[in-house]
Amino acid sequence: MFSFSKFFLASSIEEAYSELVKNKKNIILGGTSYLRMGNTAWNVAIDLSNLNLNYILEDEETISIGAMTTFRNLETNSLLKEYFGDIFLTALKDIIGVQFRSNVTVGATVFSKYGFSDLIPVLLSLNAKIKLFNGGVLSLEDFLNEKEIRKDILVEIIIPKKISKTSFQCVRKSKTDYSVVNLAISYSENKITIAVGSRPGKAMLAQKTMDILNNSENIEKDIINAIKYIGDEIPLDSNMRGSKTYRELLLTALLKKGIQEVLN
Ligand SMILES: Cc1cc2nc3c(=O)[nH]c(=O)nc-3n(C[C@H](O)[C@H](O)[C@H](O)COP(=O)(O)OP(=O)(O)OC[C@H]3O[C@@H](n4cnc5c(N)ncnc54)[C@H](O)[C@@H]3O)c2cc1C
Repeated sequence: MFSFSKFFLASSIEEAYSELVKNKKNIILGGTSYLRMGNTAWNVAIDLSNLNLNYILEDEETISIGAMTTFRNLETNSLLKEYFGDIFLTALKDIIGVQFRSNVTVGATVFSKYGFSDLIPVLLSLNAKIKLFNGGVLSLEDFLNEKEIRKDILVEIIIPKKISKTSFQCVRKSKTDYSVVNLAISYSENKITIAVGSRPGKAMLAQKTMDILNNSENIEKDIINAIKYIGDEIPLDSNMRGSKTYRELLLTALLKKGIQEVLN
């Protein structure tokens, strides 16, 4: 179990950030489910619960999701369902149980860039941006590609508000285990976006595969062609959940299934 010397209930995001950067052992608390798995002794634990960061809001062009929004909020939200179908529900419903998902937060998950995450590929496939308190707005893809670990606070996720057909595919060895590999696809305005996660590395976009499909005159015919590319462009590896070869076989099968799902 993790521990900390001092608890700090922030009354503004500015205050939370200034406390965070005072000491490298100061941390932000999300739902603390992941922090509780470690044994680290932290200095100041900064709580964002009073900052009204649990929201899913829309404006003309975007949907914003606050950092303290829980997975359960995502999977039951009617606005997300209206624009993106069941992708949040499908991706999140098998993560442990309802109580757990009512606690874990979007901000902690995305900021931590977990390779096993089922949420991050979904957000990547929807071309999400993130807003950091100090770092400002940047694309989720650029953030995931950064090597440095920032000392910052993720404030919100911003998704373009486009009605999309979507699909989430994954294979788990048992119901509540991490995905062996996962795949999120969105299709809107004749453009397919494909994100692969649990490779087991961080999620990434399948750029060449997307180009083949998006430049195709007949996507259904070119699926076979695209499937050949995804294995070449997405680096896969082995870990305790599956070998590289197993992941390669799964990924091609899941891609075919996912594309057919968004086209129909
Ligand atoms: C047993 C277990 C099983 C899991 N299984 C799955 C699974 O199958 N699929 C899946 O996708 N995920 C899974 N997860 C991960 C889970 O869904 C969350 O992503 C994870 O728990 C982090 O969320 P949290 O709110 O608990 O974060 P915390 O534990 O509170 O924080 C995690 C890290 O994020 C930092 N942090 C928190 N909030 C912010 C912020 N706003 N800005 C910057 N940094 C911040 C914290 O300082 C900490 O370093 C699992 C987690 C556990 C513990």
